[in-house]
Order: sequence, then C-alpha cells, then structure tokens
Amino acid sequence: MQTHDTIVALASGQGLAAIALIRLSGHDAIAITNKVFKGKDLLEQASHTLHFGTIRDGVKIIDEVLVAVFKAPHSFTTENAIEISCHGSPVIVKEIIKVLLKNGARLAEPGEFTKRAFLNGKMDLAQAEAVGDLIHAETDTARQVALQQMRGGFSKDLAVLREELIHFASLVELELDFGEEDVEFAKRDDLRNLVIKIQHYITPLIASFDQGNVIKNGIPTVIAGKPNSGKSTLLNALLNEERAIVSDIPGTTRDFIEDEIVLGGIAFRFVDTAGLRETTDIVESIGIERTLERMNKASLILYLYDLANTSIEEIEAQEALLTGLSGAIIIRVGNKVDKAKAELLNYVNAKEFVLISAAQQQSLGPLKDKILEKVNRQEVKQGDAIVTSLRHYQQLTQTHEALERVLEGLMTEISGDLIAMDIRQALHYLGELTGAITTDDLLDNIFSKFCIGK
Ligand code: GDP
Repeated sequence: MQTHDTIVALASGQGLAAIALIRLSGHDAIAITNKVFKGKDLLEQASHTLHFGTIRDGVKIIDEVLVAVFKAPHSFTTENAIEISCHGSPVIVKEIIKVLLKNGARLAEPGEFTKRAFLNGKMDLAQAEAVGDLIHAETDTARQVALQQMRGGFSKDLAVLREELIHFASLVELELDFGEEDVEFAKRDDLRNLVIKIQHYITPLIASFDQGNVIKNGIPTVIAGKPNSGKSTLLNALLNEERAIVSDIPGTTRDFIEDEIVLGGIAFRFVDTAGLRETTDIVESIGIERTLERMNKASLILYLYDLANTSIEEIEAQEALLTGLSGAIIIRVGNKVDKAKAELLNYVNAKEFVLISAAQQQSLGPLKDKILEKVNRQEVKQGDAIVTSLRHYQQLTQTHEALERVLEGLMTEISGDLIAMDIRQALHYLGELTGAITTDDLLDNIFSKFCIGK
C-alpha cells in the first residue's frame, strides 16, 4: 500500500492571511523543495530545523519563505516532510504549489497526510480520526475529548486487550485442529475472566456515547411556538449575546458558528431557523403539522407562549399538543413578560414556565440555566474516556454482543468451534476500531471527510 509519491497541499486556511503554511510529505519532499528553494542546501540540513530563503520558478522569485525540514521517521507522517511558511496570499500559495507540482510533487487527497501517518504506523485509526475531530472541535470540551483520543485514549487499551484475546483465540483454534480428541489448551476460566475484563472496559465506553455525541455534534434545538410569539426575537437575542462574547476576546476573529450558542461547553445548534428569519410578516399561521415537523428535528425544544396575546384556553390547547410529543426535552417559555396579562402570570407561574422578555433581553440568564439543568450535563474530567464517533460506538456495541455470546457459550459449554467464531467476530470489530483490520472502503470513508492538507 505504501507509495513513494510526494504530496503537497495548503495546510492552513483558505483566503487572505498573514501567513500560509504549505506542507509536503513523501520520500522526495526535501529534494523537490530544494530544487525551488534558494537558501541553504536543504538536503544537508538536520531534521527539525528552519531556513530562510526564497522560492523560485526559474529566475522568478515567488516569495520569501521559511522552510522547516523534518526527516523520516521524525515527522507527522513518518516520511520526509517539509513545511513552507509563506505570505498568506492565495496567489502566492497557488504559485508555490504549482512550482512544486512541476518539480515532482502531486496534490494531496483529503486527509492523505493523516492517512499516511496511520498507514505508516504512527497512530492507530481511532487516533487518526481524532485528528479530524480536533480540527473540527467547536467547543472547548470537544477539543479536550478529541485531544485525549488523539493521544491514545481508549484505543491503546483496546489494542492491548485485543492482543490478549488473540492469544486465547489461537489456543481455541489449536484445539479445533485436534478434532475429536478432547483437549483444552485455552483454560475456560481464564478465557471467561478475560472476556469479563474486556466487557468491563467497553461497557462504560458504550454508555459514554450519549454524552460523546452531544459533545461532538451539539444538541439540535428548535424554538417553536405560534406565529408572533417572539421566536425570531429570542433567537436573535441569544445569538447576539453569543457574538458579543466571542468578539469580546481580544485578538479573536469573529468567526463564531452560525445559529449556535455554547452553554457549559456544549453547542446548542438551532435547526430550521430559516423560516424564523423571514422578515416579512407571515400572514397565514403556521399549521400544526409544520410545527410538529420542526419540533421533530430537535432534541431540545424551547416552546414559546406569547403572554401578551394568549388566553389560558389557548395555552392549554397547545399544552395538549406538546404532551403528545415524546423524546425531546421541552422547556416552556413565557415570552413578553413585560406586557403579560396579570391573570396569565399567576397561571404560568404555577406551571414552571421560564418567563422572559426576548425583546428586552430580560431573563435570558435564567433561561440558559434552565436549559443546562434540563440537558443534565455531566462535567468532563481530564482523562475521561468518551466515545464520540458513531463508528466506534457501533463497533464497541458489536464487540460487546459477540463477547456476550462467548460468555453464554462458555456457560453452556458449547463446542469450541462456536466459541472460536464469536471470538473471531469480537476480534474483527475491535480490530476495525483500532485499525488493526482495515479495508479500502473503511479508510476512504474516514479520510475523505478530512480536508485537503490534513
Ligand atoms: P415569531 O413570529 O415567533 O418569530 O415572532 P417575532 O420574534 O417576529 O416577534 C413578534 C412580535 O413580538 C415582534 O413585533 C416583536 O418585536 C414582539 N416581541 C418579541 N418579544 C417580545 C417581548 O419580549 N416583549 C414584547 N413586548 N414584544 C416582543
């Protein structure tokens, strides 16, 4: 599978920037760069050194650059590698990449640097996937969990446990070779203990996926309620606050995520907000069906009542609709508390509504507290092993099922060949998780989701 191509790509973000970083990896990375670099002879330089010079296309100077040299095997990919820091104009980046291509490099595919790091044994598959997660981390918690996984996390432990299981698998298989003879190389008690040990390790990992999924993907949230209840006003109030927080930090660019707020380290993604943004008055009322459809997309629903223009009967009618919903967490919000009818206030107070004024940005704090209380967030501690990938979750679940069958088989003393089959399955799923077993499809599927240059 090993290729000797040298790949090149822009590793930093697209667009104007002070500095851009172009990365090469492959057997000839240093030699190719050396052909277009005027400065020291890069082939003569030690690993992990930095050199000033110019990149040229013939006599044309493209830019003044800094070149970092990494010699195999001491690089991210374990191959010879180069990082060129140039001025961050897209034109410069394009010209430099062009001249590198002309001299023997080829453009990298998405995720190809990380894929090479995996194929060359620098990291296991779960670690390689964590590189992608780390880059895409939208919250500090997501960053922390991805970093933990990239540094080894649970996949290292699983690889060790898998090795132990392989040992037993080979003993059981050996018994099978003896056919009718009644031999037992794999001590059943030891095998059972190992299987139980693995189950103890992976059961909490499987359970952590609920939380992991939330950390990685956020909580899909919908603001629902009748027209004019103040949905878009509330959405804007929450998002504006978020923007203010983000841009308050000196030196940060304002590149917050659209339609998302972060509370307690968790991203709440407002889904289906397009309709709310229509500035023209929506004359026809949104039908119940449409409302339900929107709410179905969410794990959390902020349901707004217009306390200035609603009657108790109307609230009760809407409540009847809401109680029919299952699954999502629903927070009832009484909006327009500044103009609320007095008799309504008594009624909703008794009902544990959160009372706010979206227009006056009043009581947004208590609303956020309520949201956090309802989603029951658990604090992530440094070192917690948390599964954030659906792929890992599925493979752990399948491993668990196969191991349950092994335990059952041991209890009922079924024949060795059936036990061997279930052990093989468990090994297969564990192997796919860590990357000990891979297929091209699996790798393509994982790495094609990466950006080029990662
Ligand atoms: P939507 O149709 O549910 O998205 O409702 P809008 O956000 O467009 O709000 C409808 C009207 O209610 C607008 O005129 C808002 O200014 C007004 N409104 C929203 N929130 C409040 C509030 O807290 N108090 C008052 N008095 N008016 C509000």
